[in-house]
Amino acid sequence: MADCCSETNSDQSFGKQVCQTCGEKGKKVELATIRSLTRRDHPLYAELKSGFICTNPDDNTVYYSEENDIIIYHNDLVTSFHLKNPDDKQNLCYCFQHSRRAIKEDITKNGHSRIELSIREKVKQGACTCEVSNPKGKCCLGDVSGFVKNLQKGNIEIQHA
Ligand SMILES: [Zn+2]
Repeated sequence: MADCCSETNSDQSFGKQVCQTCGEKGKKVELATIRSLTRRDHPLYAELKSGFICTNPDDNTVYYSEENDIIIYHNDLVTSFHLKNPDDKQNLCYCFQHSRRAIKEDITKNGHSRIELSIREKVKQGACTCEVSNPKGKCCLGDVSGFVKNLQKGNIEIQHA
């Protein structure tokens, strides 16, 4: 590319291509995930390729292709992506539809997260469809348990409406 003489040319981000709209490194995502979560009426739907996901909450880009010729924005998705939507009603678990608000209520009521336990149970039974339901293309448990831990530590406020 044009910056062949730049000192930062020795790119160690193999498999972590940089998002062309925000410059952050993305993570590899399978085509099956991108196809399943992009609106079917997107003009480039038939040309979708495997690529990367941008997890920067401040950037509207969700997927970009390896060749950087296709960008899928948040409003091109069939679902709302939790990393791009801080709303309490936003689902963190896509397979079994658990929102941030439901998890907060769960902690308030039970002191621990029954939702997290129930997700773990269902994942063990193989009942999840993360590859095609979660825009990240992987299990939500990491994000759910991170959220639960932050709630329990008081890092996230539980507001009572
Ligand atoms: Zn980005």
